[in-house]
This record gives sequence, C-alpha cells and structure tokens, in this order.
Amino acid sequence: MTDSYTRLVNTGLTKTLASKLGLPRPAVLRRYRPGDALTVGPVLVLSDAASKPDADAVAQALLGWDLDVRREPTDDARWGAVVLVLTAAERPTDVSDAVLALGSVLRRLAPNGRVVTVSRAATDDDGPELAATRHGVEGLLRSLAKELRAGATGNGVVLTGGAAADSTSALATLRFFLSARSAFVDGQLLPVGPSPDAGDPGPADPRQPLTGQVAVVTGAARGIGVSIAKVLAREGATVVCVDVAAAGEGLARTANAVGGTALQLDVTAEDAGTRILEHARSRHGRLDVVVHNAGILRDKLLANMRPEHWDAVVAVNLAAQLRINAQLVEAGVEGLRIVSLASIAGIAGNRGQTNYGFSKAGVIGHTRATAPLVARLGGTANAVAPGFIETEMTRSIPALTRELGRRASSLQQGGLPVDVAEAVAFLASPAAAGVNGEVLRVCGQSWLGR
Ligand code: NAD
Repeated sequence: MTDSYTRLVNTGLTKTLASKLGLPRPAVLRRYRPGDALTVGPVLVLSDAASKPDADAVAQALLGWDLDVRREPTDDARWGAVVLVLTAAERPTDVSDAVLALGSVLRRLAPNGRVVTVSRAATDDDGPELAATRHGVEGLLRSLAKELRAGATGNGVVLTGGAAADSTSALATLRFFLSARSAFVDGQLLPVGPSPDAGDPGPADPRQPLTGQVAVVTGAARGIGVSIAKVLAREGATVVCVDVAAAGEGLARTANAVGGTALQLDVTAEDAGTRILEHARSRHGRLDVVVHNAGILRDKLLANMRPEHWDAVVAVNLAAQLRINAQLVEAGVEGLRIVSLASIAGIAGNRGQTNYGFSKAGVIGHTRATAPLVARLGGTANAVAPGFIETEMTRSIPALTRELGRRASSLQQGGLPVDVAEAVAFLASPAAAGVNGEVLRVCGQSWLGR
C-alpha cells in the first residue's frame, strides 16, 4: 500500500518541482527498526521551576536509556527531542518561561524530532487556577503539534491518580512517544495512572517485553491484523491468529509468518470467547493479550441503510467484542490485556457511516467500562483509534475522498498498518499497566474530532 504523492514529492526532480510550486510535502516518517537509536539527536529536558525535581527524575531515566540528555538550550545542538515537564505548575504564569524556552529551540528540532509534555491531569478538587494551568497544557500541546514540520510530532504524558513522573508506565509512555514506534501518533495526550506493577523488575529482555506471553489477534488474515500479529511476535509473544474460514489462506500465511497458530473462527459466534480461551490454553498453555481487530464496513446513508448492513457492522465490530470480553472476564483470566480497534469515525462521526460510527463509539464506551472489571484481576482494557490507514479497506474508498482523508491531518499522509500495530503492542506491554480505559488515536493528528 503506497502513497505515491508522498514518494514523488520526496524524491529527485519532482521533489525540487514540488518545493518550487509550494505544494505540500508530507515527510517520510522514521519508523522503528530494531537496533536504531531511540531519538534522532540529543534530548533537551525543560521544566518550570516547581517541576524541576520531576524533570531531574525524568532526565535521570533518559540517561539510563543511553540518550544524550541536556538541561539547557544551546545554539549548537540539532535536537532529537524536547521533553517539557510541567507536573508541579500551579498558575498559568508558572509555565511561561519553560514554554518560551521550548519555542526558542524549535527551529533546531531535527526532522522526525519529538516534543513530549509531561503534566498532571486536572481533578475535581483543583481550584480554578490549577485547573486552568493543567487544562492549558492540552491546548498548548495540540496547537504546537500542528506547528511542527518534517515528520516531527508532539504528544503528552498526562499523570493521573498521583502517578509519579518516573513511574514505570509514565516512562514507558514517554519512551513510546519519543521513539519511532509512534511515527503516526501526533497531538495526543495519554492519561497514565500509577503502575500497579511498581517494584516489578520487568521482563528479562526489555526489547522483547512480551516474551513467554500468548496473544490473540482477530482479523489477522490481512490488513492491520497482519501487522499487529507481526509486531506482537517481534516483541516476543506467541500469537494466535483468528479470522473467518473464508480468509483461511491469508490466515495461514500470517500464522506461518509469525510462528504462531491459526484459529478459524467467526468472532460473532456465540461461544467465540470460550473457543479463543480453549485454543490459547490447550495449544500454548495460557492467554495474556486479546486484540479485537476484526472489523467490517457497510457504508450507506442512514436513509438508505439496509437492516442487514446495520446489523452486520454492529455484530462484528461491537457485539462480538462485548461477548468475548464477557466470557473471558467470566472465566477469570488473570492479568488480561485487551486492546480494541476503535476508529476516529467513532469520535468525530463520518457521513455514510452511522452503523460504523455507532459500533466504534460503542467500542470506546465498553473499553472504559471493561477497564475496572479486568483491573480487578491485574489486567487492562484500552482502545486504539486509527485515522486514515493505507489498507485494502481504505483502498476501496472513492479516490477524491481517499486523497482528502490522507492529507487532512498534521502529517498530511495516511498511516501504515504497522503504526497501529506499534500502538497496540505498546498498550499490551507489561510496562503500560498504568494505562487503563484509555483511547489512543493513531491518526497523524487528523482534523476530524478532538
Ligand atoms: P480489513 O478489512 O483489511 O481486515 C479486516 C479483517 O477482519 C479481515 O481479515 C476479515 O476477514 C476479518 N473479519 C471480518 N469479519 C470477521 C469475523 N466475523 N470474524 C473474524 N474475522 C473477521 O480491515 P483493516 O483496514 O485492516 O482494519 C482492521 C481494524 O481497524 C478494523 O476494526 C477497522 O474498523 C479498524 N480501522 C481501520 C482503519 C483504516 O484506515 N484501515 C481506520 C480506523 C479503524
């Protein structure tokens, strides 16, 4: 799946021509390859005065990741990333110096650079000044992300429930945002609570955090599901690939590629959850991760909607997830990590997609409600909401609409299946245990929705 426009305006003569004509030039995004450096240059850690202890703790952690960490803006550096720590700011004026210091180095942010804010979520107990300051960071980050160029992105770690800035999950989220794994995540603020696994020494090999775990991916015969299976396997998991019998060939291909097993199953089957659990336990001894990726489109204006098209979308995209989750919760699976595929259509709505929008907004709703149910057994439930991703699903969209979908975002291009897969793998990783009931958009900061 390629975006030939992005290729053309970034190569040879056509690159020069595009730049002379002032055409938009979507950047070639840096994507994760094992062994590559975490960032494309040194990392500057800035903070307001009161947040300095948290900034020190974050800087210390970054040093532990072998990064070149600086605490003062200098003119000579080509910054790979800037981390702006505002965790203890209490009044709007507290943040001014640090934000303006960030502004002074932005011209020297390298292509594919990163800006990450670390702040605290507003709570019901906050006074007006504190609430204004904490909410203000969201507006700052979302606006700044729209100003960044050349594949650079801006995202935020938002600490909730008293989580420390250097807690396992806060640092794991910071690392994800700094890395090339978040290439198509832009303008997002992810709430991170205290890590329930505090004190856990973590996996033996941090490059393969899912070692010894068993993950199930539905809809694994093609598209995004194939990438999710591959990335989870790369992270060390044994993967069970699920898809309908009609997609058996693609399903077998994915299962072979990842050294996992194939389970031919329609996720709408009454006993789908029980069969998934039985397969995972009997073939691999356990079940740790479930990725609800299977999904369908049956687009029609509501005035023209056929009952079978409404019903099919709700059955596959929503009711199947609800039923499978209920069966897994009922079975008392411990430490279960659920990641569901939502969509920005479930956040912003989309013409011709009342059925799809209902189903994907429903996914966001059930994710929030499932989170506390699985947390009791040490698990999490989160959702990933992709924007425009280059797959066979989006290749079927009429050309003009497709082109609009691609360009109407800060990164001016569609994402790749692997971008969604990296976000899924991050949310499934043990270190992300403090992220629960959240929705992470992978949309290049699409203009649709918040
Ligand atoms: P796709 O159509 O390429 O693949 C979907 C897979 O799900 C297919 O292999 C299909 O056989 C399988 N499937 C469908 N019904 C099933 C059922 N009843 N039981 C088991 N498997 C079933 O789609 P994709 O583009 O890879 O999308 C994957 C997920 O991401 C979907 O949930 C989709 O809604 C979501 N999403 C995609 C985009 C995008 O831009 N492509 C954007 C937002 C959300």
